[in-house]
Amino acid sequence: MSESLCRLPIHQLRQAIERGTCDPRELVHQLLDHITQRNPSLSAYMTVDPERLKRQLEERVQHGPRGRLFGIPITVKDNLCVTGEETTCASRMLTGFRPPYSATVIERLRAEGAIIIPRANMDEFAFGSSTETSHFGPTKNPRDPERVPGGSSGGSAAAVASDLALGALGTDTGGSIRQPAAFCGVVGLKPTYGRVSRYGLIAFASSLDQIGPITKDVTDCALLLSVIAGHDPKDSTSAPTKVDDYVGGLSPSLQGVRIGLPAFSDKGLDEMVRERVGEALKTLWRLGARPVEVALPHIDQSIATYYIIATAEASSNLARYDGVQYGYRAQEGKGQGARGEGEGSRSPKPTAQNALIAMYQRTRQEGFGEEAKRRIILGTYVLSRGYYDAYYLKGLKVRTLIKQGFDEAFKRCDVIVMPTSPTAAFRLGEKLDDPLQMYLSDIYTISANLAGVPAVSVPCGFTSNDQPVGLQLLANTFEEAKLLQVAYAYEQSTEWHHRKPVISEQ
Ligand code: GLN
Repeated sequence: MSESLCRLPIHQLRQAIERGTCDPRELVHQLLDHITQRNPSLSAYMTVDPERLKRQLEERVQHGPRGRLFGIPITVKDNLCVTGEETTCASRMLTGFRPPYSATVIERLRAEGAIIIPRANMDEFAFGSSTETSHFGPTKNPRDPERVPGGSSGGSAAAVASDLALGALGTDTGGSIRQPAAFCGVVGLKPTYGRVSRYGLIAFASSLDQIGPITKDVTDCALLLSVIAGHDPKDSTSAPTKVDDYVGGLSPSLQGVRIGLPAFSDKGLDEMVRERVGEALKTLWRLGARPVEVALPHIDQSIATYYIIATAEASSNLARYDGVQYGYRAQEGKGQGARGEGEGSRSPKPTAQNALIAMYQRTRQEGFGEEAKRRIILGTYVLSRGYYDAYYLKGLKVRTLIKQGFDEAFKRCDVIVMPTSPTAAFRLGEKLDDPLQMYLSDIYTISANLAGVPAVSVPCGFTSNDQPVGLQLLANTFEEAKLLQVAYAYEQSTEWHHRKPVISEQ
């Protein structure tokens, strides 16, 4: 065994490592070579320090615990705290921030022997669907460098798709694991809200955020989920619910499984995506599953509801970045004005208090990118007195209706099927100046976050210009085992997960 170790899925490498036919040192050296060659054009990682990484990799291979991920390099999105490593959420605002502790998911991966590669690129503060809002520049799609890898976990998905990591963690608030997984042709799972601890995740919208795996196939996804899932006393929203045997539960049969087919708006749904999803359904029927029509009556309100609740929570989570405690601080000594110094504004007196306010304002003005500012303004507006009832409160009510729709639907079916995204990967720059179009690319993923249910994206074919398409499966809360089983049975009867992007064949 040698040449292309990085191309193998984790479960095969584990067996080879256990049998002694694969030396983890060889694996990590090969991976470092790949990263050095390919990352400069892809930017899946924002920065890589090969020498430092090499030292860490060797130390882990020599002394790391011989657990379920021994010697396996896993990358993590730049919003997951890793002790002593710069963790920035791809924002200027957090440049230079080195967390004093690691996220629980990082500790759990390490306890199984994994080697952590930090700093997978992302949209700034996870606001976006293309990884173009990163302060450190966009990640390219490994299948077509003219296209986006999806977002916001675009670096994680691109790294896995191009063999720059064996697996990855991303985060999903409205689709940020599933949509980039679909765009890059890999598997991505958003767990049930509360299934995975969020301790050490830099918050975007705390009632929606979840951490989950992005992997080459469903078995690896089940493996990583079983490592990171479970109650954590450090996160009061993590659930004490028992963790199932996700890997052991995988089986190729779908006999008797009821697949829910919801009616949803197909406005903007690309014809090729519709066709691939239609073909995937036929495969599911062939495997023994049977269709059930279900209604999700409020699902078309998902985007509007999400952009009220998510921005409200984001504006309050981002209030802490004031230049005092974390990361970036604007240089002092420029204007002292607490307000703009444009025409007609009188400069306030240069008191210490005014200077402090001016520092906060300049820090936030310079530290946040455009999309982050847009979200802060929207969120502050919907929470403001006078608009709170009309927007935020109403948003919460519609969210409850969406959740009730899922409760009803799951009385009649085991798993719901939808496309992951209405289109395949779009071109870099195509939607950057049109936030609404960008937001619409999450039209099928957002409802799972609002309802707190788990959902996975698996590759289900390609468009005529060779862009991968994702099939999305959703299950009831804490039914990840069922979800993964259906995803596995589907995957095993297809070849899509074996089709590598051109870049990883060079
Ligand atoms: N694209 C969505 C947004 O911009 C979802 C992001 C996410 O899941 N982090 O809010």
